Amino acid sequence: YGDYNLKIDYVFKVVLIGDSAVGKTQLLARFARNEFNVDSKATIGVEFQTKTLIIDNKTIKAQIWDTAGQERYRAVTSAYYRGAVGAMLVYDMTKRQSFDHMARWLEELRGHADKNIVIMLIGNKCDLASLRAVPTEDAEEFAQRENLFFMETSALESTNVETCFLTILTEIYRINA
Ligand code: GDP
Repeated sequence: YGDYNLKIDYVFKVVLIGDSAVGKTQLLARFARNEFNVDSKATIGVEFQTKTLIIDNKTIKAQIWDTAGQERYRAVTSAYYRGAVGAMLVYDMTKRQSFDHMARWLEELRGHADKNIVIMLIGNKCDLASLRAVPTEDAEEFAQRENLFFMETSALESTNVETCFLTILTEIYRINA
């Protein structure tokens, strides 16, 4: 059953962005279906997934969009950003370059999205602690400077995945409801 027979009060579109292979698809799979696929590309071509949740006694349908690989060709289009009220900027904490690219992604996002969009910076793969290449403080500093929420996650171990989606959706609700 799931979503049927539910009166939906709000639908919120949230987009995932960031370099290829940082774990966007797996974060979404973990949040929407509580799955993690080691062979990740099963979901290629899927545009978005939904999950319905209750915040403040309201039924909220989160529509979370995944780039489905478009970012590899620098071809994330303006249609992708259209109507988004939230964005998750994901880097891989074991790949410094994916963090260094966050400024570029943020610029692209701000160029396309609504000015009230809620943005969360996410350092994924925190299960790989011994391979960390991005200190938490660097990310915190960037997030503070750019006025972003920030969290470290592991889609593999489920760490903070539910929390980060709930945090951004609650803030989106606060702003848009
Ligand atoms: P995307 O290109 O950003 O959508 O990245 P994917 O979700 O396809 O993940 C890229 C690779 O990283 C895959 O091999 C995943 O299994 C792996 N991966 C994703 N999230 C995690 C995580 O939290 N921890 C670890 N160790 N690996 C992850």
